Amino acid sequence: MDGLVSNPASSFLASIDLNFRAAMAFLDLPEGLAERIIQCNSTYTVRFGVRLRGRMYSFVGWRSVHSEHCEPVKGGIRYAPDSDAEEVEALAALMTLKCALVDVPFGGSKGALKIDPREWTPQELERITRRFTQELNKRGLIGPGLNVPAPDVGTSEREMAWMVDEFRRANPTDVVNARACVTGKPLSKGGIAGRTEATGRGVQFAIQCYLRDTRTAGISGRRDLKGASVIVQGFGNVGYHSGKFLSEDDGARIVLIAERDGFVSNPEGLPVEALKQHQLRTGSILGFEGATSFAGEMSGIEEECDILIPAAMENAIHIENAERIKARLVVEAANGPVTFQADRILRSGGATILPDLYVNAGGVVVSYFEWVKNLTHIPFGLMERRRRERRNHTIATALERMTGKTFPADMRDEFLEGGAEIDLVRSGLEDVMRSAWSNIADLLASQPKLGDYRTAAYTVAIRRIAAAYEAIGI
Ligand code: NAD
Repeated sequence: MDGLVSNPASSFLASIDLNFRAAMAFLDLPEGLAERIIQCNSTYTVRFGVRLRGRMYSFVGWRSVHSEHCEPVKGGIRYAPDSDAEEVEALAALMTLKCALVDVPFGGSKGALKIDPREWTPQELERITRRFTQELNKRGLIGPGLNVPAPDVGTSEREMAWMVDEFRRANPTDVVNARACVTGKPLSKGGIAGRTEATGRGVQFAIQCYLRDTRTAGISGRRDLKGASVIVQGFGNVGYHSGKFLSEDDGARIVLIAERDGFVSNPEGLPVEALKQHQLRTGSILGFEGATSFAGEMSGIEEECDILIPAAMENAIHIENAERIKARLVVEAANGPVTFQADRILRSGGATILPDLYVNAGGVVVSYFEWVKNLTHIPFGLMERRRRERRNHTIATALERMTGKTFPADMRDEFLEGGAEIDLVRSGLEDVMRSAWSNIADLLASQPKLGDYRTAAYTVAIRRIAAAYEAIGI
């Protein structure tokens, strides 16, 4: 089988290739199919100029389409100064596997613009994003039925709003489904409740699934998060929401949060929301009252904790630092945060790893809900909400009459309400995460030789992609 890697020094792409091969050893695919599945179909490099600050600036970006076994293809767009084509191909491959694992009907894609967004004003970023969108549009690399970007590192619903607006301008005769050309949009532009929090919410559901499953080791034998110590690396969208939900809903102690410029810690647990407000106000997590700040290069991820959540970038845990990681459970909220070699070191030291293609799939799952909402042109729950409310009211009244007791006040509101969009989105996401967990854990239980959750997850995904290729005769 041809390798995926053009540059063996790029350990992110190399890790995906090696993980893929590890799973392939347990599959008996027809000759040539494995190679077809793992190869990236195309990567388009775009260079464009934007006149800013009285001169011309040139920008370079990429959009990789990894697999079109299912269309449209789907994947985020990141803005980062160190992005390159190989990183984008690695991320696109992971999207193919992730979509197959959670069974959403997309092929894998990914994009990046080599830019440090902190160096540009919002007005400048808007012009750059609009030009990038024009280039993608010209090449059929954005569109509701073709290729559907979403936010990733350095982008948010703001960039998605600019992209959808530019796409509509460029396609004035085809506006009916235009909103479905990107996901992760603001609600006012056709977004869906719960998309911004979705990846962090999915991280929470993934950990809950692992803990509830009595076949797993739990956290040193424990099956709940109350008081469990957690370190989060990266306090952006995914890290913030993961830390917030795990502490506020499940009682975990977020003892350390690491960022580029240092980390803050408090063994009693950090108030995540207050820390986020401090970061928004000052531009850094450092200097937060009620925590000890450590400025500088040290990452903090090697400190003592029950759970480590790398939620920043790829290759955070590598051959040099893996032996010093003390967490028993490593939850890959970022894409590719543990290299192939580091994975072996962590596991031989007794740690369990929940893999990225499962853990951070919440984003693409809720993106799928948003895309469906845009194409159906009807908000989720609109047709049945009031009917359900009336039915629940009738049941509550009947129960009260039959028992002569009043319905418990603390349960009444939740029982009576018909389900807002956010409730339906969370319910749908939880269902998908639970079902994907069963697929992974059941396979591992029936084939212990697979050895770990990552290989099991890759195996589930590759089987589905192989079946799709065979069904369409490619
Ligand atoms: P983000 O840009 O919102 O946040 C990333 C954060 O990590 C930033 O605050 C940044 O300063 C910090 N960071 C960068 N380098 C760091 C370092 N060396 N040490 C500590 N912190 C560092 O991005 P995000 O959307 O939260 O994405 C984070 C990861 O999750 C990425 O790997 C991304 O591909 C993955 N992911 C994101 C989504 C999503 O919906 N946003 C979905 C799936 C996967």
